[in-house]
Amino acid sequence: MTYDLIVIGAGPGGYVCAIRAAQLGMKVAVVEKRKTLGGTCLNIGCIPSKALLHASEMFEEAGHGMAALGVVVGAPKLDLPMMMKHKDDTVAANVNGVAFLFKKNKIDSVIGEGRIAAPGKVVVKSEDGAEQTLEAKAIVIATGSDVARLPGVEIDEETIVSSTGALSLAKVPGKMIVVGAGVIGLELGSVWRRLGAEVTVVEFLDRILPGMDNEVGKQVQRLLEKQGFAFHLAHKVAKVEKAGGGLNATIVPAAGGEAKTLDADVVLVAIGRRPYTENLGLEALGVAMDRGIVVVDRHFATNVSGVYAIGDVIRGPMLAHKAEDEGVALAEILAGQAGHVNYDAIPSVVYTSPEIASVGKSEDDLKAEGAAYRVGKFPFTANGRARAMRHTDGFVKILADAETDRVLGAHIVGFGAGELIAETVVLMEFGGSAEDLGRTCHAHPTMSEAVKEAALAVDKRAIHV
Ligand SMILES: Cc1cc2nc3c(=O)[nH]c(=O)nc-3n(C[C@H](O)[C@H](O)[C@H](O)COP(=O)(O)OP(=O)(O)OC[C@H]3O[C@@H](n4cnc5c(N)ncnc54)[C@H](O)[C@@H]3O)c2cc1C
Repeated sequence: MTYDLIVIGAGPGGYVCAIRAAQLGMKVAVVEKRKTLGGTCLNIGCIPSKALLHASEMFEEAGHGMAALGVVVGAPKLDLPMMMKHKDDTVAANVNGVAFLFKKNKIDSVIGEGRIAAPGKVVVKSEDGAEQTLEAKAIVIATGSDVARLPGVEIDEETIVSSTGALSLAKVPGKMIVVGAGVIGLELGSVWRRLGAEVTVVEFLDRILPGMDNEVGKQVQRLLEKQGFAFHLAHKVAKVEKAGGGLNATIVPAAGGEAKTLDADVVLVAIGRRPYTENLGLEALGVAMDRGIVVVDRHFATNVSGVYAIGDVIRGPMLAHKAEDEGVALAEILAGQAGHVNYDAIPSVVYTSPEIASVGKSEDDLKAEGAAYRVGKFPFTANGRARAMRHTDGFVKILADAETDRVLGAHIVGFGAGELIAETVVLMEFGGSAEDLGRTCHAHPTMSEAVKEAALAVDKRAIHV
């Protein structure tokens, strides 16, 4: 069978690329080695983590948040198997949804491990070892990423776990050590903290959420400490050993010094992810790589004619929506259109409680660039809707060019921040200014009024502070 396009990997990059290509009239096949579609994101990433984050937030609310609203529910009881079933049902609904979309768009789904034998040729090996060769004009590598490992720490997915094991623990650990204060560590640490674990985060750098605005990181650390998180910043985990029924983690100051031992029932290794290209045959094919990352040009083309790459396997933030947008852009480019991705306006959300959302430059970026900028800030303590919902933690910060007033970045810590960020992303897509945002009518009372007020605060014109 000869296709216009073969996509290897059915994650958000691959499946979205396939659907857009099919919409544009191409004959498409997707090769996926997992039995279900949707990749890391739908099976073991974004979707199951959000199911557990939501369910554990409800548990926390029932136990602590509702009495102050006059809703007395008594001490909530945890039914962990039911919570896990909610997560599994959510995953099933999403992965089946992708299978439905493939059928609707007449995309051939081929289950097995794909290898690029030559330009235009993909060999697919199924579980029973049988091989078939598919041919296409264009091949897209969308094989995503895998957990980054820590020397001295052997992941067994039972007590020493990656994010995958942390999504399926059979019981709430008494003590949990999270290695890495990035997005995944803080999200999954939040789940188990809310369900009753004592959570200690060990981070090599001297701050949490590296890469995000520093002020945001500091405020979120305080909020998480109030929720019971303990942090050992500027420390590295040297080794984790099994001891009795539990684990001993040896941590050492990053700058050198005396080692300490922390005990735990579960250690979650969440130090990041690395591009995944194993068994793809890229070396034999001569595809250029840079420290594991597949090198592509602005049109997602590798140095080998007819071979393209998108998503976690190429440069840029490892985010599902970035992979999706690259999938759409590449399908359009292959169809002769002008698809492109604006990397300056890719939002990023951390689904802790409260949520953290950002887009564009941080204040640290602008300082490093020596850019002239103005800052507008507005706290949720001054927002009526936030008070009514008892969700007053956090703030909105808008960064605008000092001369043109064009918005360069937005950072939100607060309830529903992941939804609130969207209007600033649209604004940035259209090259909008803080004045544009400040003059846009926002419904009252809504959390989004804080975004408008922060935009007004850029020009020191906020009304409610
Ligand atoms: C716990 C966790 C939570 C996350 N939460 C979020 C979030 O809230 N928001 C967000 O934007 N991002 C989140 N991410 C990141 C997100 O999952 C990734 O950025 C996204 O899945 C990348 O999409 P992709 O298509 O590049 O690759 P992937 O989703 O990794 O998909 C690649 C697919 O390729 C398959 N594959 C690999 N090699 C082969 C081969 N040789 N043959 C056939 N198939 C192959 C794999 O089985 C996999 O299914 C999270 C990640 C994790 C781990």
